[in-house]
Amino acid sequence: STYVAAQDRYETMEYRRCGTSGLLLPAISLGLWHNFGDLHPGSTQRAVLRRAFDRGITHFDLANNYGPPYGQAELNFGRIMATDFRLYRDELIISTKAGYDMWPGPYGQGGSRKYLIASCDQSLKRMGLDYVDIFYSHRFDPDTPLEETIAALDRIVRSGRALYAGISSYDSAQTERAAAIARDLGTPLVIHQPRYNMFDRWIEDGLVDTCEQEGMGIICFSPLAQGILTDKYLRGVPAHSRAGMGAVSLRPEQIDDTTRAAVAALNEVAKDRDQTLAQMALSWILREPRITSVLVGASSVPQLDSDIDALEATPFTDDERVRIESVLAD
Ligand code: NDP
Repeated sequence: STYVAAQDRYETMEYRRCGTSGLLLPAISLGLWHNFGDLHPGSTQRAVLRRAFDRGITHFDLANNYGPPYGQAELNFGRIMATDFRLYRDELIISTKAGYDMWPGPYGQGGSRKYLIASCDQSLKRMGLDYVDIFYSHRFDPDTPLEETIAALDRIVRSGRALYAGISSYDSAQTERAAAIARDLGTPLVIHQPRYNMFDRWIEDGLVDTCEQEGMGIICFSPLAQGILTDKYLRGVPAHSRAGMGAVSLRPEQIDDTTRAAVAALNEVAKDRDQTLAQMALSWILREPRITSVLVGASSVPQLDSDIDALEATPFTDDERVRIESVLAD
């Protein structure tokens, strides 16, 4: 059926400024890493994208190798883009990335100019787009001069393939260097995409400060630790879950007894706050004003709805903060 976006789509979402740039992003954005390939029904993918936009999620995040198989998320998204979102292109921020392995041989991964520009062209073709809003270097490549990687991002922007540039998973020192190179070139390197969740707090140790100093926004990936920060794995591994479906990135053995005990304790704090654990994990990230957005990877409309409802949460009390810190310290 023809899609007409909800009239009230901008009424409840919160938008945060991406660093000191002109770009605003929704506090909750949608990532297409795992649930938009061949393992999930196209009808669900379409319903999730429609629902996201109807609730003010203006940002969809992709990468060249999201699927499975590689490239499939961009292809599937491109089809839905053409049928449902063509008229809304100017209301959307679409991002993609290159950095991890994508095609065979020396030019299919890393941070070279050759790989980044060729991959960007492939991504645009798969999605049927003239440009993306943000193009990322997906990871730091120690074997390529950083000047070359950032100059490739600069070229991608200047040639009209992207409006803004980003970096993902660069550490604090690498981020400072990238920002300095971008500043010299005049490249709008406006966003950093690191992993951040209750179980992985590495960015608190310098990166958040660095991004603030450099005027860069932060969008966090795997805010629910791929689903571990929900109640779904408390009593085993459900068949229809990321860990149950054989994802390489989330093995059932990663969810051990120590993790389950911490999740169960956090779940109690969430209940006392009248939130689900997933919602509390998102609220907890968004407590930090220097974080622009969290990227959720919802696999169904009810999950997405419930994730967005995290924005209705009350601020954390001191007592709740203490309880959470004591669980995370164990
Ligand atoms: P999450 O930590 O949000 O994990 C997503 C999973 O959590 C879903 O697949 C679903 O599990 C579960 N989930 C989500 N909401 C709920 C809910 N309300 N109740 C129960 N379970 C829920 O994020 P991802 O790891 O998927 O990462 C998000 C995005 O970040 C990616 O799509 C991608 O865009 C980006 N990313 C970037 C990376 C980078 O290197 N830059 C690396 C990884 C991700 P289930 O499938 O079991 O239903």
